[in-house]
Amino acid sequence: MNGNNLLKFRIEPITNFSLIENQKAMKDAITKVKNKLNKEYFLIIGGKERGSGEIEPSVNPSNPSEVIGRVHFANREQANEAIEIAAQAFEKWSRTPPKERANCLKRCAEIMKSRKLELSAWMILECGKNWEEADADVCEAIDFLDYYAYETMNLFEKKLLGHVPGETDHYFYEPRGVAAIISPWNFPLAILTGMSSAALVTGNTAVIKPSGQSSVIAAKLMEIYKEGGIPDGVVNYLPGRGSVIGDLIVTHPKVAIIAFTGSVEVGSRINKLASEVNVGDAYMRPHFVKKVITEMGGKNAIIIDSTADIDEAVKGVVISAFGYQGQKCSACSRVIVFEEVYEKFLNRLINATKSIIIGRPEEPETFLGPLIDKSALENTKKYIDIGKKEARLVLEMEVPKIGTEQCSVPTGYYIGPVIFANVLPESRIAQEEIFAPVLSVIKVKDINEALKVANSTRFALTGGIFSRTPEHIELIKQEFKVGNLYINRKITGAIVGRQPFGGFKLSGIGSKSGGYDYLQQFMVPRTITENTMRHGFAPIE
Ligand code: NAP
Repeated sequence: MNGNNLLKFRIEPITNFSLIENQKAMKDAITKVKNKLNKEYFLIIGGKERGSGEIEPSVNPSNPSEVIGRVHFANREQANEAIEIAAQAFEKWSRTPPKERANCLKRCAEIMKSRKLELSAWMILECGKNWEEADADVCEAIDFLDYYAYETMNLFEKKLLGHVPGETDHYFYEPRGVAAIISPWNFPLAILTGMSSAALVTGNTAVIKPSGQSSVIAAKLMEIYKEGGIPDGVVNYLPGRGSVIGDLIVTHPKVAIIAFTGSVEVGSRINKLASEVNVGDAYMRPHFVKKVITEMGGKNAIIIDSTADIDEAVKGVVISAFGYQGQKCSACSRVIVFEEVYEKFLNRLINATKSIIIGRPEEPETFLGPLIDKSALENTKKYIDIGKKEARLVLEMEVPKIGTEQCSVPTGYYIGPVIFANVLPESRIAQEEIFAPVLSVIKVKDINEALKVANSTRFALTGGIFSRTPEHIELIKQEFKVGNLYINRKITGAIVGRQPFGGFKLSGIGSKSGGYDYLQQFMVPRTITENTMRHGFAPIE
């Protein structure tokens, strides 16, 4: 690996599926992956595959009878063991030169590039992403590897501060220790890769606990880490139930940092547990405060003012609200529309939404696939019932029966896009994260009311406006309080290095992933001050 490669960071281009050769290649990749389904996946602790008493099938959400892989779920003893092994590996890995660690990430990025379509195929089948969404997920994972490799090179140089004669002041960073990486299923490769590679490149060792619904794709990342040269024990694969091993991992005295992405409920619990320290003789509590990074939910809004380009606005809202079935933390779930254009926008939105193609994610034309599992489907139906009482239902799209011998859509966890109009800003469907293709349309008089409504939830993740009024755009820039604000475009699809991603309020704590200050969180800053005035030499005894 040429060290100069570390000097550059370039975004991985998405695949152009309008080209016949790319379509064929993607179809071939899906066929090949289909021939590898239903294999067993083991825990990996200290580089060794380990079985457990409990094997869970990970299934295709568009056809739950299709088993993607049978995954060994860790028990508590194995979780303990993985953390101990990671703690041992820390001694050496933390002292490995940063450039060497960065080169491991660069190699992993190259391996991912060479397996891009195959990784997409796993995600299409295991998580119900359509082709474009799966491809974007792999590209983002590659970007995280490349970007963090690039960024880490600036971090480990000791910085000399101040210019005081007779004194030197150095500022520098050191890795923290064992990182627990706890990830969701909705960006099964990108988020897991981002959080874990950040921990590894900064010299920490890791125990990764992926979501139960995306443990197979996480196992593919482990293959890549191994091939890329991450030593045994430095990263350990610990699939399992959050309810069984989650608290143990979070409270373990040898876990120094927790990087979590997921729901507010779990994230808040992690925050609370991680703050408990050993101030007396509390058994098995750490003697330090753990560092916690939590990236959580959203209830994101797009404002449409009376000067918006309605064609662009409709397109932006449809993609933001219904892309990956609305299962993105960044998804638009509220549209706040000025009354002058309300009816016109709503009608156009309904018609555009009706053109969405619902189908199996493995088919190239599919835009909307299944929800991740049965409980997500039931939860969504519950919210649709609530919405029918709170607002005016204007669209509840049927799921077409487009079955094949092996799989018909209605066997999967499908729900068509749903739009509610005349939604009151304080109603439940306008306040709670539903994580499904359910959109609330809210009518407002002017920009001040729009802003008030936009800022009225507990979350602050993404938001946007479609407008051709410079004063509105300026006001929104200052007063729409979200982590990622987008103007005259969709509000999903943040790009590493260009749109570092993350929010505040109940959307999370920590600096933005894919941003220049993300890696610092995985390190402890230290300073050393030395008095350099001559004091003579110590006499030789
Ligand atoms: P989740 O239910 O909170 O699960 C996230 C992870 O936490 C999973 O690996 C889960 O394991 C684990 N977990 C569950 N209970 C735990 C416990 N007591 N201790 C430690 N870990 C535990 O979230 P999800 O359904 O996977 O993902 C959807 C949520 O993630 C949404 O709210 C979405 O907004 C949010 N999200 C946020 C961002 C962001 O950047 N802000 C990005 C993506 C997603 P199990 O699978 O075993 O339960």
